[in-house]
Amino acid sequence: MKIGRGITSSGAVVPFAAVADDDFRTYDPVTRLTGEQLSVVRLLPPVLPGKIVAVGLNYRDHASEMGLEIPKEPILFLKPSTSVIGPQEAIVYPSQSSRVDYEAELGVVIGRTCKDVDARDAKDYILGYTCLNDVTARDLQAKDGQWTRAKSFDTFAPIGPWIATDIEDPHTLSIQARLNGETKQSSNTSNLIFTVYELIDFISHIMTLREGDIIATGTPSGIGPMSLGDEIAIEIEGIGVLVNRVTK
Ligand code: MG
Repeated sequence: MKIGRGITSSGAVVPFAAVADDDFRTYDPVTRLTGEQLSVVRLLPPVLPGKIVAVGLNYRDHASEMGLEIPKEPILFLKPSTSVIGPQEAIVYPSQSSRVDYEAELGVVIGRTCKDVDARDAKDYILGYTCLNDVTARDLQAKDGQWTRAKSFDTFAPIGPWIATDIEDPHTLSIQARLNGETKQSSNTSNLIFTVYELIDFISHIMTLREGDIIATGTPSGIGPMSLGDEIAIEIEGIGVLVNRVTK
């Protein structure tokens, strides 16, 4: 099932199974949109996460691209909830930066509050999966020496187009980024260094994960810059395509 939120031409917000400020486990899944309804809505971010916990350097191909060793533990950082935008919304290029990159990532949406989860039980706490673009001001990342500013601008966390709840194995999915239609990243989640379940284990031993929180699982090789007017599409097998455009 695909769950998310949309807005109709009359301005009504139409949840299809999930609203962030509701307890979405109690939401009736039969309210999913039909194809006809989908054609009249603009999709909103499928969830408004309390936090996004992101993982740096979690694909073998990206580690070798950067000339870096495979990390022994996940490298974590946070993206603020205020960086979230939905499908078709604009990524705003900050004037402070002159290099803004796309990063295609599998987003894991937490379905139940959890703490100190064993990897073997992690699946029980996952609502589903979405496409995420970990937009990064690469020059500021290098300049600052830590990543908060570079990762946190408003609009730097496009998510969507919805949450896929029926993915059995998140470690066999093709993942792509296309810039103006040209494939820039093309990998598979089988190249993840730390699995989705290992990440939930590791992160939940540090901080409580609440329903709606998102784990951004890292990006494969092929990262690169975007320019004003560019269209960036993130596609993950079994989920869909998340499209955004870069503006001033
Ligand atoms: Mg990233």
